[in-house]
Amino acid sequence: MEKRKGILAVVSGFSGSGKGTIMKRLIEEYPERYALSVSVTTRSPRPEEEHGRDYFFITEEEFEKMAKRQELLEYARYVHHSYGTPKEYVFRHLEEGKDVILEIEIQGALKVREAYPDTVLLFVSPPSAEELRRRLTGRGTETEDVIASRLSRAWQEAQGVEAYDYFVVNDDLEACVQEVHHILQSEHIRAERRRALIEQIRTELKGFSKGE
Ligand code: 5GP
Repeated sequence: MEKRKGILAVVSGFSGSGKGTIMKRLIEEYPERYALSVSVTTRSPRPEEEHGRDYFFITEEEFEKMAKRQELLEYARYVHHSYGTPKEYVFRHLEEGKDVILEIEIQGALKVREAYPDTVLLFVSPPSAEELRRRLTGRGTETEDVIASRLSRAWQEAQGVEAYDYFVVNDDLEACVQEVHHILQSEHIRAERRRALIEQIRTELKGFSKGE
């Protein structure tokens, strides 16, 4: 039997694209398939956020120590704060055969792709820029200033979207969850990810053809 190897997937999207909600629903629906990496960040928690579930909220000093000890797979600055992906969780779950999803911004996504070229990159967008502005304002958790910074960061990020493999439009949450699931399941059957199985079948065929 072919051993299922986990896929490393990066999901990015403008702040307010709804990517976090999509990923949480995906894990709820297929807990045996996917693991969602929990990042460390130096920003303060929002009222509904929990330490260890949404992020590990740490100080700048703790962040620097982790980066120095090479405990982070990647890290980046985003609107005045640092964000990073702890390595250990990612590799442990990939080994277990789970697809590991990193919900990170574009600089981090590009660093992961450089270090691990078979990473799948997905970009989630709301249907329009106006809808993005409406969602960010409606969230009510950020000041006008932060919303403006996030919108200008979204404009910058929009310039880098071509680096991604998939562009998913979040119009309908459930449809989007299924779309992401199908993308990742299809990635598993790509020929280049099944080299071991292909080799095995080739060897068996060679054995059969000897008698000809
Ligand atoms: P937020 O403050 O809205 O939770 O996140 C801000 C941005 O940082 C989002 O685009 C989010 O995907 C990204 N982010 C979260 N964790 C990480 C991480 O570990 N590394 C990087 N590079 N970006 C992250």
